[in-house]
Amino acid sequence: MTMAGTPKMEGAQDAPFYLEQGPECALFETAYRHQMPLLLKGPTGCGKTRFVAHMAARLGRPLYTVACHDDLTAADLIGRYLLKGGDTVWVDGPLTRAVREGAICYLDEVVEARKDVTVVLHPLTDDRRILPIDRTGELLEAGPGFMLVASYNPGYQNILKTLKPSTRQRFLSISFDFPPPDQEEQIVATESGLDPARVKGLVRLAGKLRGLKGQDLEEGVSTRLVIYAASLMAHGMPLNQAVETAMIEPLTDDDDVKEGLRDIVMAVF
Ligand code: ADP
Repeated sequence: MTMAGTPKMEGAQDAPFYLEQGPECALFETAYRHQMPLLLKGPTGCGKTRFVAHMAARLGRPLYTVACHDDLTAADLIGRYLLKGGDTVWVDGPLTRAVREGAICYLDEVVEARKDVTVVLHPLTDDRRILPIDRTGELLEAGPGFMLVASYNPGYQNILKTLKPSTRQRFLSISFDFPPPDQEEQIVATESGLDPARVKGLVRLAGKLRGLKGQDLEEGVSTRLVIYAASLMAHGMPLNQAVETAMIEPLTDDDDVKEGLRDIVMAVF
């Protein structure tokens, strides 16, 4: 998956499959080579995590992924003293490991994390590229291989959960969205093994369901769910059950809305 004109990267042939949507691979590589942090914005299940895994493999860097949540603290990222067999030992968190090893650290859904996390990220995202560890008194300098990548979904966060401009303006940013139908068909067919003719209908349905975002649905159906539906069918499950389980039930708990979605399924197939 090398873009025309881009030099072939180490590890590209073993990288997890990623179908490029635009110039994001070249952007990522340039950001990596010039030590710039990167923010990926876009709805859940549209390929951000896969993109980072793909790029880490292409660039031949280890990847530390952290799924952020509202209890995640700076200590979870940096590390802490733990009791081991009567001794107190320092254990690096994933961010510290990535800084020490010159790896890529991916903070998925970074806005979910507690406020003290952004404070830790600031000195790593400017020219200093340092990680001060107060508890051990260390001041780590990130090597050339270290890269910080974060993602967030601007769609469903409430106003309190958005990135502050002072944090946001430290990152290069790329917007992601669900792929156009022909590309999504290719992704779903490759990932699920379902034949392309049957994938086509699922992708068409996904497009219709995404049209309801903001009206009946908070979020449109993700590429991940379309792949799940296709995988169920590839394993012999009938279309209506696959769609019900993967593309209706996960979207809503409201019975009336579910009925509306089923009408759309009937209209598509
Ligand atoms: P996100 O991180 O945006 O929530 P993921 O990267 O986990 O989403 O994407 C969900 C799944 O969709 C992936 O596991 C992969 O199977 C598939 N996928 C989405 N976009 C692509 C793409 N462009 N190329 C290959 N696979 C993709």
